[in-house]
Amino acid sequence: MSKDQSRADAIFERTSMSQTDLLCESCGYVISGLPESGNCPECGTPIPESLPESRVGSPWQARIRTGTPAALGAWLSTSWNILRHPAPTFRSLRADMPGVRSHLSINLLASGVLLAMPWTGVWLYDPARGSRGVSGVLLQLASLVAITIVAALILLFLTWVECLGIRFFAARRSWRLTRAMAWQVCAHASVGWLAAGPCVWGALLLTSTLAGSTQMIAGIVSVRDLIGGGLIFTAVLIGMLTFEMLVYLGVRQCRFANPPRLAGGPGGDTIAP
Ligand SMILES: [Zn+2]
Repeated sequence: MSKDQSRADAIFERTSMSQTDLLCESCGYVISGLPESGNCPECGTPIPESLPESRVGSPWQARIRTGTPAALGAWLSTSWNILRHPAPTFRSLRADMPGVRSHLSINLLASGVLLAMPWTGVWLYDPARGSRGVSGVLLQLASLVAITIVAALILLFLTWVECLGIRFFAARRSWRLTRAMAWQVCAHASVGWLAAGPCVWGALLLTSTLAGSTQMIAGIVSVRDLIGGGLIFTAVLIGMLTFEMLVYLGVRQCRFANPPRLAGGPGGDTIAP
């Protein structure tokens, strides 16, 4: 466990509510032991809305648990739901770990491919490529795979930093954002990184229209490279902001999320950490 992770856990443990208390998901009031058909005494939200069973999971989480729907359908409908109806979709996420790794891997590798494609010439028609033969195509494929993996690893690092960040932020605000819930929010929000690829394509297309502006600034960098670099930076920033915005919406819906109940827990109020 990293130093930062231990610090996040230490701050977390200092807060008053335990990781296993049943909380009102709207205000964080402890509702363990109260009649499950009533309302939260603090904010009036019906208690059934806060019970772990109300978090039925995204289609991807359902697929991991039950095997249906099929992988592509589950990924497509989960991504669509997150982008189209972020608040209710985050509100329905299960607060446990299954599905995090596979979901994150798919989103980050897909974002990596989209980012890698223009740098390996895959999306541009290159007449010289045809004459390079099989070894040329293999080399191109190898560079696509290598750049995809590097891009995905960078995105994974940024996602991990975000996950640590939201747990720090939550602990300081006395929210109970469990580790599993934080990872599920980040995994579901990581579909936002997909926006970076097409924006980079647009940036490169725009840059290619600046073919004439090759005059140098102080003999170091050309105007074209400077504008191109700025456009690519902005394009990646758009992907990052989409991800950040989804994480923000997710944390709002999951800051007091109740993890699934443990089978046979005392009083039915014991929930998984
Ligand atoms: Zn409440």
